Amino acid sequence: MELKRLSEHIWYMPFETERDRPNLCYVKGNNFSLAIDAGHSAAHTGEFYTLLKNENLPLPAVTVLTHWHWDHTFGMHAVNGLCLANEKTNKYLLEWKEKIEKNGPDEFFAIHESIRREYGGDAKVIVKPADMIFTGEIILDLGGVKVKAIEAEAPHTDDSTLIYVEDDKTIFLGDATCEDFFAGIKRADLCEKLADTIKKIGPEICVEGHWTPVDTQDTLHDLMNGQD
Ligand SMILES: [Zn+2]
Repeated sequence: MELKRLSEHIWYMPFETERDRPNLCYVKGNNFSLAIDAGHSAAHTGEFYTLLKNENLPLPAVTVLTHWHWDHTFGMHAVNGLCLANEKTNKYLLEWKEKIEKNGPDEFFAIHESIRREYGGDAKVIVKPADMIFTGEIILDLGGVKVKAIEAEAPHTDDSTLIYVEDDKTIFLGDATCEDFFAGIKRADLCEKLADTIKKIGPEICVEGHWTPVDTQDTLHDLMNGQD
């Protein structure tokens, strides 16, 4: 796996389907750097950091979560610096932390075989809540580049955060444009709301969790097709 440069301030380690690993993205400021999503496990986070070190990029001081799903968050215990999440995302993380600490990881492993592949060795499942919680919107000034985290309604989960780097006209959507993982449906009203939100923000490039970066028009087209 190699680190790809997307624009002036942005790099990312590409997604992998086998272990359901999402893109792990990186924004470099003059004062500090930020990651988007923590990773599926400590191993996933560690591979990302190795690539950053190879490029002499400073490790992220802050990691922002797009939503609570394990493949984006269960590497949180291995991140450098602090994690930022919206209140709902943090609530889900706390629920899973309690569940796994109480009953062990079997219920988690039962969700999907990609999880069993990710944790195939004897890697421990450790869930950690965020260090910083927000609701609505928050702007982080990294020095020379600003990052805006925006809570948004979306068909995938009810805890989506969109992350916009206006200087690079790039938005990170996590899995927001996808169907609800557990219910298997993509509600049309939520697709419309999300499409409106994206249009209002006005990015040129959309980075989804498990896809290559594309023009916003492509993302909007896919979002508005195949709804339930
Ligand atoms: Zn997801």
